Amino acid sequence: MPETSEPSIFTRIVAREIPADIVFENDTMIAFRDINPQAPVHLLVVPKTGQYRNVSELAAGDPALLAELVGTAKHLAEEHAGGEYRLIFNEGPSAGQTVFHVHAHVLGAGPDGGLAE
Ligand code: 5GP
Repeated sequence: MPETSEPSIFTRIVAREIPADIVFENDTMIAFRDINPQAPVHLLVVPKTGQYRNVSELAAGDPALLAELVGTAKHLAEEHAGGEYRLIFNEGPSAGQTVFHVHAHVLGAGPDGGLAE
C-alpha cells in the first residue's frame, strides 16, 4: 500500500525532519531508540520505505526486506543488549500499533540486566 496522505513520523525521522537517537542506518534500514522506552534497551528497526504499514504487508510484499529487518535487529541486539532480546511487531490499533509504518521493537536488558516479564 503506498504511503498516502502525510508521511509517517518514521519517514520524517529518515528525512531528518524530526530528531532521533539513531544507532544504525544503511541504504534500506534505520534504527533508533524509542522515545518512550519499555526496557533498558528499546530500539525501533524501520525499513526506510514507507510503503508497508505492518509486518504482514511487508512479508507479503518484500520478504527479503523483512529478513533484512530481522537480521538487523539481531545485529543491534548483539551490539546493545548482549544478544538476547524480544522482537515485537504490533499489528493494528487494538494490538497497540500507533505508527503505521512497519517497524520492529527490539527489547533487551541493559548491562545490569532487568528485562521485565
Ligand atoms: P507501535 O506502538 O506503533 O508498535 O510503536 C510505535 C513506537 O514509536 C512507540 O513505542 C513510541 O514510543 C515510538 N515513537 C513514537 N513517536 C516517536 C518519535 O518521534 N521518536 C521516537 N524515537 N520514537 C517514537
